[in-house]
Amino acid sequence: MTSPTFIDTHAHLDAAEFANDQAAVHQRARAAGVSCCVIPAVEAANFDTVRSLAHVQHDVYALGIHPLYTPEATQADLDQLDAALHTHRDDFRLVALGEIGLDGFVPELNTPKAWAKQQQFYTAQLQLAQQHRLPVILHVRRSADVLLKALRDTPVMGGIAHAFNGSLQQAQQFIALGFKLGFGGALTFDRALQLRRLAVELPLSALVLETDAPDIPPHWLYRTAEQRAAGQPQGRNEPAELPRIAQVLAQLRGISVHELADATRANARAALPRLKDHA
Ligand code: ZN
Repeated sequence: MTSPTFIDTHAHLDAAEFANDQAAVHQRARAAGVSCCVIPAVEAANFDTVRSLAHVQHDVYALGIHPLYTPEATQADLDQLDAALHTHRDDFRLVALGEIGLDGFVPELNTPKAWAKQQQFYTAQLQLAQQHRLPVILHVRRSADVLLKALRDTPVMGGIAHAFNGSLQQAQQFIALGFKLGFGGALTFDRALQLRRLAVELPLSALVLETDAPDIPPHWLYRTAEQRAAGQPQGRNEPAELPRIAQVLAQLRGISVHELADATRANARAALPRLKDHA
């Protein structure tokens, strides 16, 4: 039996955390069976970086402005996004518009002014996704209902709600709008009871796997505040961790990791149709 292969549907491989060993991280991912990573942009300044990285590493990428980067973003950044989507429309490694969304958790982003700006950029980017016929990669953090309402007003062809941690009802609404839900390191924690229940209750056809590297370390990399205070740095997540994360989810669902790998790969291709040429 061949070993399972995986798609990491969310990995910020251009992040500063990988600056010193990007090639080694890539090699470990492939050795672990992660055949492709989706590298989302977060601001106009990293569009070229994610694009060239995806080409060098034979991964794929998305272009967009992340909600955490909206305070400094301007109309010129949206224009640059529109222009880049035009320029690279035939780039077979460009698979989505993202990472976009709304963050209802970070206090500075939730003043009335900052929240309005987040919403303005989210809506404008949904319109670009419509125009360019691209799926979207969504950042959902205490914002599912507002994101869903905007998606009903400005429908897109679907995509991925990444690092999903909402309710079953919210998950079902995303699914009805053509979305898959991204699960990763957060479900490796025994205490993540609600998230684990959700990952088991949802149909297998709704799930995709992701690391969100370098963030959301699984429990075996996680360092508590006490450990960090004692000098141990927070563990860095990377795509090579995905098979072990998948093992946890497969066990929770009572299926083989092979079955989970095959299903989630097919789901990722359904959510991001241009992936089918790569993984
Ligand atoms: Zn992200």
